[in-house]
Amino acid sequence: MNILPNNRVGIMGGTFDPIHYGHLYIAECARHKFALSKVLFIPSGQPVHKRRTNILDPVHRLQMTRLAVESNPFFEVSTVEVDREGPTYTVDTMELLYSEGSGKEEFFFITGADAILEILTWKDVTRIFELCQFIAVTRPGYSFDRMNRVLRNLPGKQRARIHIYETGGILISSTEIRERVMLGEPVKYLLPENVEKYIKAHKLYING
Ligand code: ATP
Ligand code: MG
Repeated sequence: MNILPNNRVGIMGGTFDPIHYGHLYIAECARHKFALSKVLFIPSGQPVHKRRTNILDPVHRLQMTRLAVESNPFFEVSTVEVDREGPTYTVDTMELLYSEGSGKEEFFFITGADAILEILTWKDVTRIFELCQFIAVTRPGYSFDRMNRVLRNLPGKQRARIHIYETGGILISSTEIRERVMLGEPVKYLLPENVEKYIKAHKLYING
């Protein structure tokens, strides 16, 4: 593993159902921009905030995430949330990563403009802000102004720990990919080829 001599660790959480180039692109841009030594991809177990109920088995989501990060020496996958029984709370994950670290790590949680707004609804939000900083990346299709308005109203201490990062972004979502697979439309160039092959081999998403 090619680690920079610092302790800045990126955390990329998501359902990854499936993982796609939008996720990989923002993780790579954030890594570069914020000089992160690595980015840890953490597929969720049973997410608390997803309205959708038919989320794919974590074993598949984890495997696709592993395949997707294979070609990037700065990317790793953590099974911490998939291994946990019951709903996934970010605060518990961050506590665990913190306790397992050397105490010197600085964690940067990378999220899209939509997900950052959900932070305010997360469990133990004050503690989360103590455990990590946030990199809020703009996402095509989601209003930058709305995100800014909400963030401006946060307590100053929390606001100071959110770094807004405007990338050009890629207009891709897992929802779109699932729909395209179901309709038999191409998903090539939206996600890594090995993930596409995995989806085909396991006949995923064909029934919605
Ligand atoms: P779904 O459509 O099922 O919600 P998704 O594409 O939003 O899937 P998630 O797994 O929900 O993917 O997202 C994980 C994280 O990646 C979130 O912080 C989300 O905001 C971010 N993200 C996903 N796609 C993009 C994108 N194209 N650009 C920027 N951020 C993204
Ligand atoms: Mg999403």
